[in-house]
Amino acid sequence: MLVRHISNLIGRPVMAKPRPVVVSGPSGAGKSTLLKLLLEEYDQVFGFSVSHTTRNPRPGEENGRDYYFVSREEMLHGIDAGEFIENAEFSGNIYGTSKKAVQEVQARNQICILDIDMQGVRNIKKTDLCPIYISIQPPSFEILEQRLRQRKTETEESLQKRLAAAKLDMEFSKEPGIFDEVLINDVLEDTYIRLRSVLSEEIQRVRALQN
Ligand code: ADP
Repeated sequence: MLVRHISNLIGRPVMAKPRPVVVSGPSGAGKSTLLKLLLEEYDQVFGFSVSHTTRNPRPGEENGRDYYFVSREEMLHGIDAGEFIENAEFSGNIYGTSKKAVQEVQARNQICILDIDMQGVRNIKKTDLCPIYISIQPPSFEILEQRLRQRKTETEESLQKRLAAAKLDMEFSKEPGIFDEVLINDVLEDTYIRLRSVLSEEIQRVRALQN
């Protein structure tokens, strides 16, 4: 019995679940642009976790698909219990990414993409999710400012806030032992090719898991 059990294990090696990918870096560094390219090329390989929120669902939104809609009490309890990788409050509502939501993406045999900030990176380091850590950085602070201005999504006040946060983030990316790869996003096509190459091994493994 034991021998058969062992040979079953040997015959069918258990493949580890897809590793999530953490993509971090200052606002305006090009994370969304690069992730969009990645998703266009590898549609089913990647997935996003479903966030929790304390705001009310809007018409057409579904619990578990668009968000997990929870009460403020439930959310605060989960945060206290260390169930969240990151959480933030926007206009009176709390939003967060739970560790469980990431595991759900893994259970579907997809690489969970996590676009998270410095604090989120520090928190996920404390979990056993074992992601690949990538930092996307601008070629310089001046170019970052230019790109944020050209994107035209910010008021002057929020732009100044993002730039102040960017300084800290650029320093953080240099801390040893945090990121597996720091990609300087100069020419977009080149950065994308490097990003793809950092992920290529995991992409191949996930494709094998899915077939
Ligand atoms: P993030 O998601 O990190 O906040 P975005 O992907 O929104 O950043 O990029 C910020 C702006 O910079 C966008 O207008 C985008 O089109 C532009 N951008 C991104 N990468 C490059 C690049 N390599 N060269 C020039 N512009 C870029």
